[in-house]
Order: sequence, then C-alpha cells, then structure tokens
Amino acid sequence: MITDIYNERSKPFDQGRAWVEIDLDALSYNARLINSHLDSGCELMAVVKADAYGHGAVQAAKRLQNEGVKSFAVATVSEGVQLRENGLDGDILVMNYTHPANALYLHNFRLKQLIVDGDYAKALNETGYKIDVHLSIDTGMHREGIDMSKLDEIESVFKHNNLNVEGMSTHFASSDSLNPNDIAFTEMQIQRFNTTVKTFRDKGYDVGKLHTQATYGLLNFNQSQCDYARIGIALYGVLSHDEITNTPLALRPVMSVKAIIAQIRWIDAGESVSYGRTYIADKPIRLATVCIGYADGVPRSMSGNNGECLLHGKRVPILGRICMDLLMIDVSTVDSAETGDVVTLIGSDGDEEIRCEDVASAAGTITNEVVCRMGSRLPRIYR
Ligand SMILES: *Cc1c(COP(=O)(O)O)cnc(C)c1O
Repeated sequence: MITDIYNERSKPFDQGRAWVEIDLDALSYNARLINSHLDSGCELMAVVKADAYGHGAVQAAKRLQNEGVKSFAVATVSEGVQLRENGLDGDILVMNYTHPANALYLHNFRLKQLIVDGDYAKALNETGYKIDVHLSIDTGMHREGIDMSKLDEIESVFKHNNLNVEGMSTHFASSDSLNPNDIAFTEMQIQRFNTTVKTFRDKGYDVGKLHTQATYGLLNFNQSQCDYARIGIALYGVLSHDEITNTPLALRPVMSVKAIIAQIRWIDAGESVSYGRTYIADKPIRLATVCIGYADGVPRSMSGNNGECLLHGKRVPILGRICMDLLMIDVSTVDSAETGDVVTLIGSDGDEEIRCEDVASAAGTITNEVVCRMGSRLPRIYR
C-alpha cells in the first residue's frame, strides 16, 4: 500500500517507516481562496522558501504556477536556482543575503535580489552583473532593510548602473497580534512605509512595485494592500498560531505526517518510559513504539506537554520524551492496534484531526517552524 506510492525523494528503503503526505489540491484551493481576498491590483507572491515550508519547493511552486501564480519568493539564491532548473518561469525574489561572489547566479537565473543596505547595493553593483532588485525598507522590524530615515542611503541604490530597482518593500514585526499596542505599531510601520514611498516618488524616482504584507498583514491589515502580498504559511493551509484574526480564512491543511508502529507490548504500573524516565505508568499500559522522532521534525519540546497522535481514528497520548528516531504512545484504549499500523502525527484519521496548530502549541512554537522542519529525512508523497 505504501510502497506503490510515488516518492519524489527516492528514498525507497525508507518508505513505509514515516512519511509526509502533501495534498496539492489543498494548496491550489488555498491559493484561490487567498487570491479572492486580494484587491484586483494586488498579486499573490507565493513564498516558497525553506523548501516551501517543508512541502517541497518544486512541486509546490509548479502547482501554484499552474494555478496562475506568476511571482515567487525564496530565502536563498540556491532555492531560486533550484526552481529555475526545474522549469519555473515566473518572477523569483531572493529575500535573504546573496554573497556578491554569487551575483552571476542572480543574473544568469533571472533572480531578483532584495537590497538590505547601501553597502550591499554597492558591492552587488561592483560585480558588473545586471541585477533586478527590490529595496527593503526598515520601518521598525530591525531585522533587515535600510532605515527609513536614511534617505541618502536609499537614494544611492537608485543610482547604481547595474542595479535596476523594480520594487520597494517592508516587513511587519507584529501584524499577527490584535493587541492595541501591536496594532498601533503596525499602523506606524504602514505610515512610515507610505511616507518613504512618497518621498522617493516626489523626488522623481520610479519605486516600482510595492509590498508589505505577509500572511498576517493580509489577515489583519487589509488596508495595507499594495502590488504584491508575500504569502507563505497561509498557502500551506495553516496559520502560525490560534490567535484571532480580522479576516478568518477557511484554509485547508496541505501537510499530513504519518508513521508506523514498530513494536507493541504491555508495561506494568510503576515502569517508566523513554529517556530521563519522565513518564511513570500508574497502571498497566499497552505501549507502542512509533517510527518517527525529532530528527524527522517532530518537536522534542512536545514531550510531556499533552502531545497526541491518532490511531484507528482515536486520540492517543505520547508518553515520555520524544527520541531522535522514535516516540512512544499509549494504545491501551485501542484494542485493535497492531505492529505496522499507521499513526497520524498531523492530519486526520476518521473523525479526529490533529492540526498543525495543535502540535505547534504543544511544542511552544508556531506552525511555520513545525512544517518547515518536517522532512529532510521523510519521504514526501504527493496526492
Ligand atoms: C517568510 C517571509 C514572508 C512570508 O511570511 P508568512 O507569515 O509565512 O506568510 C514574507 N515576507 C518575508 C520578508 C519573509 O521573510
């Protein structure tokens, strides 16, 4: 049943142990849903960095391209090259630092580079390669970008002969929060960005396409729609966390994570489970060992924090610490459980569902981290 499913990662001997299932129709659905929330002048820029948040950048980007998406964003130049080499022809923006020594890849593969400061622009210009760039303006996030007050530094980027400024952007620091202070902060960032854009337009510069919103900018600050919305996590059908948003979206999760049971046996009351003996049985327990662990991307921090899995359509608790390659579950309530049965770590089984948001919250993190870490070892199965 498992071995006959196509596995793009060619890890045939690992098939049947643990795997990630990717529902590309759900990805299409989410892209259409997100598009329906964008104004006609605002285009979806699909963020497919980090191997499309663990979903497989090539498969995800190609499906989105078939859905009519024309613009993509990646973090690194090699992520951009990978997409080009696999036939993606839309616009691709590289959002993180590309060493000037690799400028020829930006040029040869028609990748656009985000410019984070004046020195960096100068160094790229000096490579001699013609490169299309977008400016990143720091309006308060203080991660990257030219401080909005440094007008000369911003202006210098427009003057380089080899750099063609095609866009101007900023990134919000707390748009996922609707607490009044955070709302005020995001509104200030929007204001600062608009001021910067106006300043340079008034000076006669073509600032190109504008973009400010990531997923939560779109969901909470619809008024800041520009030429692009850089959407990542929502495309994959989950939100970063369960906080309320202004625009609720009925997204469909794209990723499920499954693994099989390697061994089942009873342990007595008083026996402990896993490293550190953090779990001690208070009654006899039917214990199953599942072939997946933190090296596969299951957050170790979920240990002891009400982490659960699904088995035969029932919720079962994870017991003790999650190991590198294995974890243990209590299957005392599932009489029919057998070695080889499929356990769902994220996804649905019968009427039950474990959402990525549930796993993220048990692990004390956000879904973005959970999905993008699933997978360097797990085969992906596309449906
Ligand atoms: C990752 C990233 C995004 C996408 O963020 P999501 O919250 O996943 O939608 C957008 N813009 C920048 C600059 C990013 O680094």
